[in-house]
Amino acid sequence: MQGDELAEAVERDTLAALRRRERQQTLVAELGRAALLGASIDEFRERAVAAAADGLGVERAALLEPADGVLLCRSSVGWPEEELRPVPVTGPSHVGETFRVQEPLVVGDYASDARYPGSLYLVELGLASGAAVPVRGEEEPVGVLVAHSSAREAFGNDEVVFLRSIANLFAIVVAHARAEESRRRSEKGLAFLAEAGHILASSLDYDSTLSTLASLVVPRLADWFIVDLAEPDGTFRRVAVAGALDDKRELLEQLAREYTATVEGPSPASRAVTTGTTVRFSGFSPETLRTTTKDERHFELLSRLDPHAAIAVPLVGRERVLGALTFAWSESGRHYDDADVHLAEELARRATAAIENARLYRSESLARALAEEAQRRLSFLADAGELLSASLDYEQTLTQLAELAVPRFADWCTIVMVGAGGALERLIVVHDDPDKRRWAEAFAAQRPLDPDDPSGAPLVIRTGKPMFVREITEEMLSSAAGDENQLEILRALDLRSSIVVPLVVRGQTIGALTLATTTARSPYTDADLELARELARRAAQAVENARLYQSAEQGARAAEALDYVADAVVLLDAAGRVRYWNPSASHLTGIPEPDALGRMVGDLIPSWPQLAERVQEHAPVTIPVLLSEEERWLSVTRVGFGQGSVFTLRDVGRERAIEQARSDLVATASHELRTPLAAIYGAARTLLRDDIDLGEAERAAFLGVIESEGERLARVIDQILLAGQLDDGRVRLARDSCDLAELAVSVIEATRHAYPDGHRIHLHASSSLPPVHCDRDRFRQVLGNLLENAVKYSPKGGSVDVRLRGGPDDTIVLEVEDEGIGIPASEQERIFEKFHRLDPGQTAGIGGTGLGLYITRELVTRMGGRILVTSRTGAGSTFSVVLPTDGAG
Ligand code: ADP
Repeated sequence: MQGDELAEAVERDTLAALRRRERQQTLVAELGRAALLGASIDEFRERAVAAAADGLGVERAALLEPADGVLLCRSSVGWPEEELRPVPVTGPSHVGETFRVQEPLVVGDYASDARYPGSLYLVELGLASGAAVPVRGEEEPVGVLVAHSSAREAFGNDEVVFLRSIANLFAIVVAHARAEESRRRSEKGLAFLAEAGHILASSLDYDSTLSTLASLVVPRLADWFIVDLAEPDGTFRRVAVAGALDDKRELLEQLAREYTATVEGPSPASRAVTTGTTVRFSGFSPETLRTTTKDERHFELLSRLDPHAAIAVPLVGRERVLGALTFAWSESGRHYDDADVHLAEELARRATAAIENARLYRSESLARALAEEAQRRLSFLADAGELLSASLDYEQTLTQLAELAVPRFADWCTIVMVGAGGALERLIVVHDDPDKRRWAEAFAAQRPLDPDDPSGAPLVIRTGKPMFVREITEEMLSSAAGDENQLEILRALDLRSSIVVPLVVRGQTIGALTLATTTARSPYTDADLELARELARRAAQAVENARLYQSAEQGARAAEALDYVADAVVLLDAAGRVRYWNPSASHLTGIPEPDALGRMVGDLIPSWPQLAERVQEHAPVTIPVLLSEEERWLSVTRVGFGQGSVFTLRDVGRERAIEQARSDLVATASHELRTPLAAIYGAARTLLRDDIDLGEAERAAFLGVIESEGERLARVIDQILLAGQLDDGRVRLARDSCDLAELAVSVIEATRHAYPDGHRIHLHASSSLPPVHCDRDRFRQVLGNLLENAVKYSPKGGSVDVRLRGGPDDTIVLEVEDEGIGIPASEQERIFEKFHRLDPGQTAGIGGTGLGLYITRELVTRMGGRILVTSRTGAGSTFSVVLPTDGAG
């Protein structure tokens, strides 16, 4: 080459170089302006690559950007489509190396550079050298700008500087676009979160808000979306499922049906819940997918869902992990970046807050509702209690109770009571609705209660156990109805729920309370059953109280009447224990009521067993009973009842005494009258005989017999008459002033002749006796009787001493003492009773009426005095009469 030529060539080259540099500067300036004016990445990328090829004057240029471990060509110049291939980031190519080390790299000769075997294929494309510069992003490498030339060593420092300028501008555009994108996304994210927050706050029914949320998430943040909530039993409750495509959604639902998701498990949601952190799957290879499935079928279904990327975010509550949100990109082919994860986590936080609020509110409002319900029940029970204790008429009380229960607690209330003999009686039927009340009454009328009914109140009464039907079914109605008509009525009653509780008193079921609701109300709960039982307990107690009161009242009236009954009334329970003992019983037995009540009657009256044995139901029996060591004649009746017997005891001693007196009188009269009569009759007959000649003396003797026996007869008759008069109170006594000594002398004188010989009668009268006011004849009679007895009961003779002396307290004492047979102590009281005589063995067959001492005592008593006896068997007796000196009567 010539000098000029050389100079020309140099000038030409320099010129060309200058022009290229100018061109390059122009290109960089244009790109810079585009970058500042906000060119889009895609547009800028095209221009940048074109500018690189243009400015360097090379055949090929390209911009590669990373995706999933490879660098993909996003824009190129001079590259036929088919020659573009992804460059592995980690591979032995200069492009990969540039990306890795983030430094420009120039290769002068691809063919001879052993460092980059991965770039050798470029030689085959007719390329010899190249330069690659990194596009550095703010946080991470953005890509690699590369230029190739068919000439070797085509790239020097200037070329690299030019390429780097372009790459830097691209990096600015990318950074700018990313900032813009993230601003836009975060704006979108904020709007999204605001919208989500709005949905979550719209209602406390978080199931439905989460479903609405799902339709917001799809398609903005996922192609399909699942909300799982962990249940206490370790399973997941799938609250919401959303899929952009119908078939995907169906697949998801099928999955949920076939595989109960559990907290422990391989799914992303399970992992998120168990770890409490977000789980991210950037890409699903079949292997990765398999790790999230339970079995082959699960895998197959999940494969059909075809997730490309997924994140599962736990719902971390205050105390525990509540569940998880699972987001997946599928058909749209998108991936989740950090911003998405951030957004998903933010969404999860808001969903968690919404769920916790709703649960808290629910538990609070539940607690409030429960408290209100409890309050309602308590006030109902209080009202019922008040009502039940207000009246002692239990039918009225139960009616009021039924009316209180309807409508506060039931729409229909029936009370069935066990009547006499076990028959069931429907006491009350109340229905809230008057029309239905008529139906209810019609049903009751058509269906008489059958104690053997296998359901309802009869069953409850038989078993004593409550019956609770939460939901009444059509079958129950059919089996409860006797016929089609009754079934119609039951259907018309529109029953929903029923409770039948027994009314139990002291272990005995006395009835049943039925409560029922119509379908207008919610069905009864266990708490309602408890309330019904409490109500039944109180009602049964009220019935019992009323019944007790009634029987107590009746009992009190009866007892009051029995108090005035003269007969002793004794009520014994089945064991023979005294339960009632009226005043007459106390009087008769001498045992006061407090000592008798609760005691065994056999302990009170030892002869009771014999008595009870002889007494027949309802037929009075008169028997002697030993009461306080004294035999008393009692007329006893017995009436048995369920728990014992009532005995009435009447003291028939008086009646028996009268009866005895009557028979005594007959006996005495027949004996004491017959003996003298027989003597008189015999003497008279003898005197009248013609065949016997009687001498004067004999006739006189017979006449004497007639006289004396006649006298005796008269005395007996006088005694009987006088005793009768004394009994009737017809004897009146005179009040004479009597000198008793004088009277005694005349009595002794008058009677002396009547006594057989061998008796000596002495009168000892004190000389200073004051006159006594008394009935003269009656005194004679008193002394006469005593003298007669003294002589009569001294069959062997002896002396009889009559003494008259002054006694204490202005009294005069008359004593008649004999030496006769005496009187045993046990008889000394009874000898003064009417007709009482010692038995003939004790009196050596001495006759008498048994009236003398009776009359004597009665007369002495009427004179204001008294009579006593002291005596010993075989050693004589002394009768003492004490009379007041001024007399009486
Ligand atoms: P009577 O007609 O039997 O004598 P009283 O009333 O006079 O009836 O006497 C009743 C009974 O009292 C007599 O039956 C007799 O057993 C007894 N009695 C009465 N006086 C005496 C007496 N002085 N000594 C023994 N026993 C007597």
